[in-house]
Amino acid sequence: MAYTRHGHHIPNTYTDAKERQVARCGGLRMCSECIRDASPYSWRQKGPSNMPTYQTKSEQVQAWQLTPEDADSITLMVGGKLVEEIDPEDADKKFVGLNIPTLEGVIRASEGDYIIKGPNGQYFVLKPNEFEYKYESV
Ligand SMILES: [Zn+2]
Repeated sequence: MAYTRHGHHIPNTYTDAKERQVARCGGLRMCSECIRDASPYSWRQKGPSNMPTYQTKSEQVQAWQLTPEDADSITLMVGGKLVEEIDPEDADKKFVGLNIPTLEGVIRASEGDYIIKGPNGQYFVLKPNEFEYKYESV
């Protein structure tokens, strides 16, 4: 919606060709309902430096780092199937991997990756640097 409920166009948003009844309410300068409808777009009028800011919700998760030592016990908890990964540059170097079935399909954890059990019980995988950036131990 780039029009207010009273039919006024919100500046710097798309326009369409639809005919609208425009109320004589004063629009974006006067009408509190029009001003409220336009407020989610206010950063566009002020410029990109006013883009909305978000921060991650704080959440506790359980996670395991996939290591050769823990691979079997992680597989027991998470389900899935252990696989062998080979270094593309050195076929003698082998690493452990884990294929984890999820609702969105099978995801692969490679050795060193963190397997995270989210708040809804779903599993996902993060690279160590991503994991350490987002989480700290409690
Ligand atoms: Zn209005």
